[in-house]
Amino acid sequence: MTENLTALCPCQSGQPYQSCCQPYHQQQHFPANAMLLMRSRYAAYALKKIDYIVQTTVPSQQTLLQVDELQAWADNTTWVGLTILQHLTRSKTHSQVEFKAFFAQQDRTQVHHEISLFVNIAQRWYFVDPTVALPNMKQPCLCGSNKKFKHCCGGLL
Ligand SMILES: [Zn+2]
Ligand SMILES: [Zn+2]
Repeated sequence: MTENLTALCPCQSGQPYQSCCQPYHQQQHFPANAMLLMRSRYAAYALKKIDYIVQTTVPSQQTLLQVDELQAWADNTTWVGLTILQHLTRSKTHSQVEFKAFFAQQDRTQVHHEISLFVNIAQRWYFVDPTVALPNMKQPCLCGSNKKFKHCCGGLL
């Protein structure tokens, strides 16, 4: 896929893609906070870069993702807008971002409203996917914090 480097970033920042989410997508550097990660993941969906969706999911969940399904879904979806409603800092290592993402499938516009959980592991933010198999509440957390799931990410999902 060729990319127009002067085009505005799909994350709706108003910035050119090459100085907004492209450096994240190319792994030149990592988003400094959960909101930037959320925006870059939206932009990755818009550009159908499913590799980036996988790489920015908590490492312990990456092998649980159905990459073919994600790719097929992205290929059939046109993203038309993103509104960030709030960015909630829960702790040094946990943040939530509430957003509405607008998309079209078969010419029908729909809205996806979500409060996403993000966790910081070794100075890097990751998305916690609530749709894959999760630990039970007494098991160690999926983020590797050595806390029980219910006292860590599980308490925020
Ligand atoms: Zn962007
Ligand atoms: Zn955790």
